[in-house]
Amino acid sequence: MPETIRTDFHMHSTFSPDGHDTIHQLCRYALEHELTTIAVTDHVEWQPDGRQYAPDFPRYFESLLRCREEFGPQGLRILSGLELGNPHHHMPEVQAVLDAYEFDVVIASLHWLDGENIHNTRIFADRDPYAVYSRYFADLGRMASVAPGNLIAHFDRIFWPGTQVHGALDTARLEPIVRPALEQIAARNWVLELNTRFLAHTPGWNDILQAVLLWFNEAGGAGVAVDSDAHRCKEIGRHRDVGAVLVRAAGFPLLNTLPAPQLAVVR
Ligand SMILES: [Zn+2]
Ligand SMILES: [Zn+2]
Repeated sequence: MPETIRTDFHMHSTFSPDGHDTIHQLCRYALEHELTTIAVTDHVEWQPDGRQYAPDFPRYFESLLRCREEFGPQGLRILSGLELGNPHHHMPEVQAVLDAYEFDVVIASLHWLDGENIHNTRIFADRDPYAVYSRYFADLGRMASVAPGNLIAHFDRIFWPGTQVHGALDTARLEPIVRPALEQIAARNWVLELNTRFLAHTPGWNDILQAVLLWFNEAGGAGVAVDSDAHRCKEIGRHRDVGAVLVRAAGFPLLNTLPAPQLAVVR
């Protein structure tokens, strides 16, 4: 078991519309900051308004392979990957991407809830926050039940706008909302991501994350990965020490790799 976190399985390069640095820059930074394994996981999205986004994969892989040649001998393992937005709503398209290329890390992310962008505080306007959390975790569970992949990203994403609009979270009220989703995640052996982007950003924030990780362990969860979701070099590995404390306190070992992505459930 590694002593500290030396992995980061979730980051974005200039092959994502919101990524600022090249794969080469990300790799060099990761190596300089003593990481041993990273995955470059650019966005693949099908937006509710019909717009689509995917990296130029031939150029992505060309760049990735060049970086493996350069940084591999220096001790950095570079995994291929992608972050699928709402894959359970686009299964044929997802399958076509996964059939065309080989990915080590396949992230399933919930970015849209019933057609609304979950990053936007508008999703909470004039609504009971726990009703929104309920819909979010129900959909997260559905995604975990059918989608292909090996990593469920940022389960806490909905808390970011929610706490901005409605303030602190009530762990007791969240428990019956979150646990069923964690059971579905555990049942298909997904690794759950602890996203470090907002760690320690408000008082009490880490307490709810800690509770969720404990519930995930009780549900039989396979493991927890601590990832930065970096969109620029300097965000790589951020708060990884805080993340390590939470993961260990929940009874999980620190990971140095992920299991291979699993296939979609055929219905
Ligand atoms: Zn995401
Ligand atoms: Zn991301």
